[in-house]
Amino acid sequence: MHNFSAGPCVLPREVYQQAAQAVLDYQGSGLSILEISHRSDDFLSILAEARSLALDLLHLDKSKYKTLFMQGSASLEFLRVPYNLLKTEAGYIDTGVWSSKAIAQAELFGKVRLMGSSKITQYRTIPELVLENSSLDYLHFTSNNTIYGTQFNEVPKVNVPLVCDMSSDIYSRTFDYSKIDLIYAGVQKNIGPAGLSMVLVNESILGKTNRVIPNILDYNEHLKTDNLYHTANVFGVYSCLLNLRWLQNQGGVEAIEKRNESKAKLLYETLDTLDFVETYSDMNCRSNMNVVFHFNNKSIDAMFDDLCKEASVVNLKGHRTLGGYRASLYNALDIESVHVLIEVLNQLEKQV
Ligand code: PMP
Repeated sequence: MHNFSAGPCVLPREVYQQAAQAVLDYQGSGLSILEISHRSDDFLSILAEARSLALDLLHLDKSKYKTLFMQGSASLEFLRVPYNLLKTEAGYIDTGVWSSKAIAQAELFGKVRLMGSSKITQYRTIPELVLENSSLDYLHFTSNNTIYGTQFNEVPKVNVPLVCDMSSDIYSRTFDYSKIDLIYAGVQKNIGPAGLSMVLVNESILGKTNRVIPNILDYNEHLKTDNLYHTANVFGVYSCLLNLRWLQNQGGVEAIEKRNESKAKLLYETLDTLDFVETYSDMNCRSNMNVVFHFNNKSIDAMFDDLCKEASVVNLKGHRTLGGYRASLYNALDIESVHVLIEVLNQLEKQV
């Protein structure tokens, strides 16, 4: 199958194989990974390696940054971020559904100043930023907008702590990661199977609000307890580790970025030549992860769907708020799948 799902999404075949083997017998121990304690030596070593590799792959300085595998997904970080960081006023950049959801949660804790919005272009663009205000507690942005297929080319330049939701493009490209003080992501695209979020945080920005934070929502509490405040998602963290090791074996973020660029270039070039196709996002902020398009005549949809089915191309449906189609090209999607999709589009051209 050629799975273009926006997430949960395709992961490398060898990750499936290794995870499956660990369910039967974790490294010859006679025990399944599903039955080992989160305090066992085996899991402590999995957790330590995963937390360390998560930072190494982005070249983040371990004397500053710490990794947390958190339960509750990226949506819980929308809440956890302002709970931990918002004292008076935070800046947010609105680039669509996910940043709007983050803004709504921040407003529960203090003032939110909109530092840019692409609402006026129906989120087809990345907005110009007005970043003169230096009294903000932090600035939040969403580096890749999964629904509309837009992506920041650069990290915004600010003199306040930067927070970024990188759910749909972390580990897919080189980026000025070290300029961001708190990176979070739902793991279900480029990190592992659904059910966790990953937080990479520069510890020095924490503990400044004087707010009493319930332990489970307090990043400091999770750091103090070495990411074992409560029972860890053992299988989830192990699967993330397998995926991060796979990325390292591919040559890391630098190597995967080149492959991701080739995949996206191939697909956009094809879509641009077809006069019955319209892509959604503006050229200069196109996402390499989520390619969003629709046909200029609704009657083409059924023909395309049939061709996709025949070619085992699946999960191309656009987000329910936007309709149309979305091809997600995350790290583990092989370029061969893109070639198959292009072949489908070429066949479609002959039929319309
Ligand atoms: N942020 C972005 C950019 C996303 O794409 C998503 C989900 N696709 C979320 C946040 C929400 O993630 P979760 O469902 O893990 O809460």
